[in-house]
Amino acid sequence: MTTEQLQNLDRQYVWHPFTHMSLWLADDPIVITHGEGVYVFDSDGRRYIDGTGSLWCNVHGHRVPAIDHAIRAQLDKIAHSTLLGLAGEPSILLAEKLIRIAPPGLAKVFYSDSGATATEVAFKIAVQYWWNLGHPEKTEFVAIEEAYHGDTVGGMSVGMTSAFHKPYRPLMFKVHYAGHASSPPPLAGGGRGKGPEGPVQSAQPVSSETSSELNSEPKRGTPPADPSPHPLPQGEGEKSLAAHRLESQLAAIEQILIRHHRTVAAISIEPLVMGAAGMIVHPPGFTRGVRELADKYDVLLIADEVATGFGRTGRMFACEHDSVTPDLLCIGKGLTGGYLPVAATLATQKIFDAFLGHPWEGRTFFHGHTFTGNALGCAAALASIDLMEQTHLVQQVATYAKILAEYLEPLKALSCVSEIRQAGYMVGIDLVADRATRRPFDPKQRIGAEICRRVRRHGVLLRPLGDTIVINPPLVTQPPQLAEIVAALKIELSQLAAEAGTHAGVDQRGDTVIAGDF
Ligand code: PMP
Repeated sequence: MTTEQLQNLDRQYVWHPFTHMSLWLADDPIVITHGEGVYVFDSDGRRYIDGTGSLWCNVHGHRVPAIDHAIRAQLDKIAHSTLLGLAGEPSILLAEKLIRIAPPGLAKVFYSDSGATATEVAFKIAVQYWWNLGHPEKTEFVAIEEAYHGDTVGGMSVGMTSAFHKPYRPLMFKVHYAGHASSPPPLAGGGRGKGPEGPVQSAQPVSSETSSELNSEPKRGTPPADPSPHPLPQGEGEKSLAAHRLESQLAAIEQILIRHHRTVAAISIEPLVMGAAGMIVHPPGFTRGVRELADKYDVLLIADEVATGFGRTGRMFACEHDSVTPDLLCIGKGLTGGYLPVAATLATQKIFDAFLGHPWEGRTFFHGHTFTGNALGCAAALASIDLMEQTHLVQQVATYAKILAEYLEPLKALSCVSEIRQAGYMVGIDLVADRATRRPFDPKQRIGAEICRRVRRHGVLLRPLGDTIVINPPLVTQPPQLAEIVAALKIELSQLAAEAGTHAGVDQRGDTVIAGDF
């Protein structure tokens, strides 16, 4: 089929995720037909570096012989059979492997099929854990503002984003939100958009404590009157700045827990990096601090490592940076090397044991999906993890991430770049109309999307989160390709800086949802 025919059929039949379809229909989409290593190819044979790692999930690149072989070998046995009432060979072997590589203390694997189902499972397990222990009142959650946990109702509730989720608010359950320790400190009206790998919304000024509850108007989008309860003493260095942010953020969480811990089931975090919020990196010690607060106030800790898991931050799991074991660990994306939709929620023995008992006691976890523990996906995951271990990929990411940081350094001099955040192979580059004042671009101009569109001519595919450009490539991406991505960005961002004045800034980004569908 020709590219034009494929594009026409796409426009006629496909409803794309997180996409303003009116814009999409007026455009000619790139149609990907194949991939090789870190490259994807379109229907006209053009080659692009997969700079988003196919939505942050690709580990070893595309068409990896070891994974392809494992899937084919599994296909010769069976593609899928159910885990409801039956066990399956690949899901058994994978569960054993996952428990071996996961933070110590996690003991059981509950399979599902996407990041959102992994978190949804965690939220349900947390609530039922307390119910089974005779605490039916513990049904609420504590979460971090701007967190993203997927698009199911639970995921939306705990990771609630007002601009996306307004229509669904009546469906959502009760969550208390604490502000995150974004860096640098908030500027009125400035800042980054947020969206799950592409949709974009207005700036989200930081509050160090915001407790929003069901059906109350979220405080997001409104600069806090007092951004920090712990003003930073003048002249303190970067280290103490991080310490200050940590203290401030943990204090905000603790305030919520002091008031609500009796009715809170769990606190949910994205350890180290809040991905969809714009690659916001938590201060060192954050995950450990939250673990301690969860223990102190007797609530569970859910670590959503859907984005950070499987080496992306330079450790197998981001929790390892703080030597933390959560009560529930959510994984997806890179689990199968980015090949197939398998996700999982790992639980400690303590959690699991609370679900044991006679059937009539009602402790069973009544949750499952048709493709839970899919055999092809589990075979791919086993092969991917083996390959990660054989190639010492996680250590390589940690090493090459430092080289990537060096490549990115010159971008900081550009007048349209206000901040670059990085943890491993997760990078967020904030674009602003004026760096001195961090005045944002008018969201209607969709500058982030425009830059991603422009870098395509250099053979690079990227996707923005509002006016934050994200680099999140396959974990096997080597320094020369990392350099290519950054070089393409440098050309286009320098051009953007030179166009200053053409792209007006605005005082407030407001609450506008705009398309980031590139
Ligand atoms: N949690 C986090 C931290 C994520 O980044 C994502 C997706 N980016 C999800 C959950 C949802 O995963 P999925 O898109 O596979 O449902």
